[in-house]
Amino acid sequence: MKHTDFSSLGLHDFLLKNLTSLGYESMTPIQAQSLPYILEGKDVIAQGKTGSGKTAAFGLGLLEKLEVKHFHIQALILCPTRELADQVTKEIRKLARTIHNIKALTLCGGTPFGPQAGSLEHGAHIIVGTPGRIEDHLRKGTLKLDHLNTFILDEADRMLEMGFQSAIDNIIGQIPQQRQTLLFSATFPDQIKSIAKRIMSDPVMVQISPTHDDTVIEQHFYKVNDNDQRLTALRLLLLQHRPESTVIFCNTKREVQEIADELADYGFSIIALHGDLEQRERDQTLVRFANKSVSILVATDVAARGLDIDSIDLVINYHIARDTEVHIHRIGRTGRAGNKGIACSLYSDKESYKVALLGDYLDRIIGSETLPPSSLLDETPNQAEMATLQIDGGKKQKVRPGDILGALTGKNGIEGKQVGKIHIFDNQAFVAINKRVIKPALKKLTEGKLKGRSFRVRLISN
Ligand code: AMP
Repeated sequence: MKHTDFSSLGLHDFLLKNLTSLGYESMTPIQAQSLPYILEGKDVIAQGKTGSGKTAAFGLGLLEKLEVKHFHIQALILCPTRELADQVTKEIRKLARTIHNIKALTLCGGTPFGPQAGSLEHGAHIIVGTPGRIEDHLRKGTLKLDHLNTFILDEADRMLEMGFQSAIDNIIGQIPQQRQTLLFSATFPDQIKSIAKRIMSDPVMVQISPTHDDTVIEQHFYKVNDNDQRLTALRLLLLQHRPESTVIFCNTKREVQEIADELADYGFSIIALHGDLEQRERDQTLVRFANKSVSILVATDVAARGLDIDSIDLVINYHIARDTEVHIHRIGRTGRAGNKGIACSLYSDKESYKVALLGDYLDRIIGSETLPPSSLLDETPNQAEMATLQIDGGKKQKVRPGDILGALTGKNGIEGKQVGKIHIFDNQAFVAINKRVIKPALKKLTEGKLKGRSFRVRLISN
């Protein structure tokens, strides 16, 4: 028997037979690594993207211990979007089809509350839902989780990106402390680590790629003769790599503005982060970059302090940093959370000594590579996929991410997957929308209501 055989797990016979009839011949890597711990009852943190088989990993875990004759809610699965929640419920029903009278319910925003409350009155074993709506049901007393023994966060990183942290905290405050908690996430930013610390007990960490792959940064160095060539080199690298998110580091504020202006003239989607921006402007700049409405951020080291954005594909050093430590810090913005990152550094003859120092530090000889061919200059730069809508209501008006998501995706609305990150500030909120659906999204938000009120909504353009 191989360790990837489902039969090695000691599952109930009716579950095992069903897996065979579903054509699940052997476990996927995430299942093989997490299921033994999940079945032991341990808390597990697993790195799992959609498509990895993660739903069956936690689904089998919760079904194995579910007691059908106790008609109470025993498992709660939180998902960032309605689409994912629907998908998860479907997969769980598929895995449970040999168990009689099992009931799994989906509770998501964007659908009427009343019928959900009605279904809940009839009882359920498993609830799958989005944090905002689950919180609403708990507040209204239509959902009771006193008998819960399994709590699952699916795509936890995406839920945090969408601003569900406080809803999740609130829900956790209302479920039994004695429980098994499973957390699935594609990436592990610090926020996830701190949540895991707070809500899990001695969790086992399951990663598909080994941890030492965590920061894979490919470094390239290019020697340039003068400032004109430096700017051309910058364009060439951007046109060659065509990254979704890039940070360009400059040594001076003046250079930041020059590059932002020049690259904008060439049609790049770029925004400058100055040290002297007002807090509100700084927030807005960072939000637009983090939510992928702008693909390039150009900044000085000082301005970029505290910049905590995962999934930056490319870091470009327009000049080599003043010292090695700053260089290492700059390039560490890419290649996070198991993603591969690329760092390109431009230097002139005068800066060669800094490159040599860096080489000593990295214990390698650094030579200049050849720049990409100049024919690339004829190509059009790639454009950001998202756009940002600004809503003139925020925390103080009790606007929550779930309200915005619900308003956008309700009847005649756009799909959840067309909604990107949601950031909520005291008196404002920002939501990223796929550029193709700006019009219907604006219409839904302006004509609809959030928390029973109409708010001014506008598209932020350059
Ligand atoms: P998920 O990552 O949970 O969204 O699952 C991706 C797809 O893989 C779903 O359609 C599952 O039905 C399917 N699946 C999950 N586990 C297995 C398995 N061990 N063998 C074959 N298919 C699987």
